[in-house]
Amino acid sequence: MNNGFQPVSGFVLPRFAGIATFMRLPHVPLDDPRLAQVQVGLIGAPWDGGTTNRPGPRHGPRQLRDASTMIRAQHGITGIRPFERMNCADLGDVDPNPADLHDTLDRMTAFYARVREAGIIPLTGGGDHLCTLPILRALARDRPLGLIHFDSHTDLFHSYFNGQMFTHGTPFRRAVEEGLLDPARMCMIGIRGTAYDSEDRDFARATGIRVIPIEDFHRRGAEDVMTEARAIAGDGDTYVSYDIDFVDPAFAPGTGTPEVGGPTSWQALECARLLAGVTIVGADLVEVSPPFDPSGGTAYLGASLMFEMLCAIVQAPS
Ligand code: MN
Ligand code: MN
Repeated sequence: MNNGFQPVSGFVLPRFAGIATFMRLPHVPLDDPRLAQVQVGLIGAPWDGGTTNRPGPRHGPRQLRDASTMIRAQHGITGIRPFERMNCADLGDVDPNPADLHDTLDRMTAFYARVREAGIIPLTGGGDHLCTLPILRALARDRPLGLIHFDSHTDLFHSYFNGQMFTHGTPFRRAVEEGLLDPARMCMIGIRGTAYDSEDRDFARATGIRVIPIEDFHRRGAEDVMTEARAIAGDGDTYVSYDIDFVDPAFAPGTGTPEVGGPTSWQALECARLLAGVTIVGADLVEVSPPFDPSGGTAYLGASLMFEMLCAIVQAPS
């Protein structure tokens, strides 16, 4: 038991009261001496400079923190109590520069390099999907990682808008090119929607990245698909990246690039739960856009998916 890092209970202080942190955990900034004891750091990445369509995920971390005050200490199905297994804390937000894309990428890499130096596993609430690239630059600088990626898009495109190489549609192309990810240990799940062309899928095929399109997901079910995903990731260090647009927009409308025909919120949670056993060195939940989420339901699903991923992190083989 690690008493300094327990969330505030709704039995003690009602959920609407107090300053909102991720899952009501203590706020431990990077210069706080308690950082040395933190094992899992929840981090906000309030930036959407890579968005190509409807914006708004820069507002995601605040909304996710607010929604996450509903999260309680114990998993409803497995009974796992993640905050008692590892010291968890809210490390605050990365400080982006909304007027400069590359400066923001560098700031984010520097932030996550410090998190990594402290031996902390980062669990990030985005932010658009380009945020994953600077995180990988910090976490994978010395060896390529495996990747389990939930999304309706591959985010493997070469460029947008006549040469813009850095958008939320390109992070995994860049990460492969930069040697941050091992294509043989990458699995993308839920891919669907109309396509520009087949360039992204051709890149996946040429490099050996496994893409499981939505028609296969619906035919096979979460358990079978996740058994394959875990086998692809293997025993090595693996990053998990979860774009909320993986989920059907009936359940998660608050996102910039929704695609119909996706998994239900139940299936979405099931997939994250089935990450248990993967050696997770970092994870994120991205693309929640509060301006398109008037009910707050997308953020609540996002916070719930972060809790599922946290439960998988604390079960990772050590
Ligand atoms: Mn994405
Ligand atoms: Mn997407």
